Amino acid sequence: MSLLELLVPSICPACDRPRRPGELLLCPTCARELRPLRGLGLAVTAVAYEGVGRSLLRRFKFEGRSDALAVLLEPLAERVRPLGADCIVAVPRHRTRVRELGSDPVWTLARALARKTGLELCPRVLKRTRPTVPQAGLSIAERQRNVRQSFRGRRQLRGRRVLLVDDVTTTGATLREAAIELRRAAKPESVIPVALAGTPPRTIERPALETGPRSAL
Ligand SMILES: [Zn+2]
Repeated sequence: MSLLELLVPSICPACDRPRRPGELLLCPTCARELRPLRGLGLAVTAVAYEGVGRSLLRRFKFEGRSDALAVLLEPLAERVRPLGADCIVAVPRHRTRVRELGSDPVWTLARALARKTGLELCPRVLKRTRPTVPQAGLSIAERQRNVRQSFRGRRQLRGRRVLLVDDVTTTGATLREAAIELRRAAKPESVIPVALAGTPPRTIERPALETGPRSAL
């Protein structure tokens, strides 16, 4: 067994199918099914949060699989390189959430993206002021309420062109709220919201619309 195989498991990061030496990280079946998504709303994204993209992201986030992150990082780096940003800020998690997960995957992602693109990673720019419940399963209005004023700026980045990085974006509520506070407090030249994966609009849960009274229109 080579040193590389000791470091990188020789299985597909999405489906765990064994890989032969020299094959690409993602197996051909998963590679075919991974759906690129170049943007969602105002955010720059790499892949759709569904199918293979979703399982890669969850394996990175909840199982700490760096091979899954490596597959997703490549298209994200390609997307952000031409944007002319000069530094990266991670959307912070509240400390209670980091404790629950045992790590902060968005910070890990931001650090890996900085390494891959050569951009500076700026720590302690934003702080999460209160714990918020996970956005998944909330309606659009609930998502906005959940994250409203939940960030606080901690330092300035005057004149900088910032990539504001999160793991998944669905309605854009979290990235939008973080960007508002980043612009207000850090006073950068520009802020570009970025997420590894975007939830395609048709799959967003809208319980308020499905169960509420129907409009006469
Ligand atoms: Zn696979």
